[in-house]
Amino acid sequence: MSWETFRRIPIWKDVPLEQWETYRWQMTNRIQTVEQLRQVIRLTPSEEHAVTRKSGRFIMGIPPYWAALMDPEDPTCPIRRQAVPVEDEYRLSPNDMIDPLAEDSHMPVPGLVHRYPDRVLLLVVEVCSMYCRFCTRSRVVGTSAGFSRPANIDQAIDYIRAHRKIRDVLISGGDPLTLSDERLDEVLTKLSMIPHVEFVRIGTRNPVTLPYRVTESLCAVLKKHKPVWMSLHFNHPKEVTPPVQRSCGMLADSGVPLGSQTVLMKGINDRPAIMKKLFHELLKIRVRPYYIYQCDPVKGTSHFRTPVATGLAIIEKLRGHTTGYAVPTFVVDGPGGGGKIPLMPNYVVAYKDGVWTLRNFAGKLFTYKEEQTNGAGSRTVSVEPSYVLIQ
Ligand SMILES: *Cc1c(COP(=O)(O)O)cnc(C)c1O
Ligand code: SF4
Repeated sequence: MSWETFRRIPIWKDVPLEQWETYRWQMTNRIQTVEQLRQVIRLTPSEEHAVTRKSGRFIMGIPPYWAALMDPEDPTCPIRRQAVPVEDEYRLSPNDMIDPLAEDSHMPVPGLVHRYPDRVLLLVVEVCSMYCRFCTRSRVVGTSAGFSRPANIDQAIDYIRAHRKIRDVLISGGDPLTLSDERLDEVLTKLSMIPHVEFVRIGTRNPVTLPYRVTESLCAVLKKHKPVWMSLHFNHPKEVTPPVQRSCGMLADSGVPLGSQTVLMKGINDRPAIMKKLFHELLKIRVRPYYIYQCDPVKGTSHFRTPVATGLAIIEKLRGHTTGYAVPTFVVDGPGGGGKIPLMPNYVVAYKDGVWTLRNFAGKLFTYKEEQTNGAGSRTVSVEPSYVLIQ
């Protein structure tokens, strides 16, 4: 489906392209009500009920750009399922949690999650351009948690300044690119004045969900603060449209290394062929697949969750079968605050006395023999056999 399909939608057919392609117009015209949504897609009863529900609802917001990519007739469309609420969101599983990653209890100051020794997660805003139905942070996203208050950000920056082990700051939210260029510039400037902060990353979905946010003026801010890395968030090859190719091209041309995090979701991207296609599309626009996340047990998302084995099967079909750069790390974020735990298919068939029996991507067995260096001065670190799972 071409991205210019918005012309087929009566409410937008006369919007001048210069307006359509602006962040401001897209944000002002976001779809937030059932009446607006009805003008874009043929709603199923489940979608209709979920959108009109009065209480306990996770906010809906869909930029026209994203809405125009949704299949109006097919409720299983991966673009549509990521944005449009369904009744399943109100079905609670016993595994569901409000704050699965225990972020709130790892916040030394509001909006700053300090889980790892040398890096922090800095939440600077609660707003996103598009609200993903599976959002891990739905407890705060779209609310008035107050992360974007200048006093709040300053307190978090004071904390970073006082903790000299922090060398890496991941700016997230919400979506940090919903801040104005000026506000983003301010945050980046404050961080760049802290000598022990070696680099920053911006976690954002805007270049994917509302690519017109990437402008020359934004790129100028990012260039000024090099090195800035970006973690984007792509879930399906249909998201790689011409405007997205352009937004990522502009960021890469500005010297911003781009990575992508993907949430594994049932019926959206749980087939190896879809993931492979997505990662190939990403390499073409200079985005390196970084993580595949097992879907977190966030309240109201059980309909998206796959078995963990699905993620392992996807990695198995990628590693060795395609470009290594197209193979991200599959992680489970340990519920309760364990952090990201990588999972891999098992390539170790046996290990005994320095002899490793390994299998390759095609299932063939190979033996690697370690040097036996037990003499004095040996610097070899031997693997604890307990790390090796032998089947
Ligand atoms: C994901 C995450 C990070 C960054 O982890 P990397 O593996 O370095 O990308 C840092 N802090 C928190 C709390 C996180 O969830
Ligand atoms: S862009 Fe990220 S923070 Fe915002 S709703 Fe989607 S997953 Fe949540």
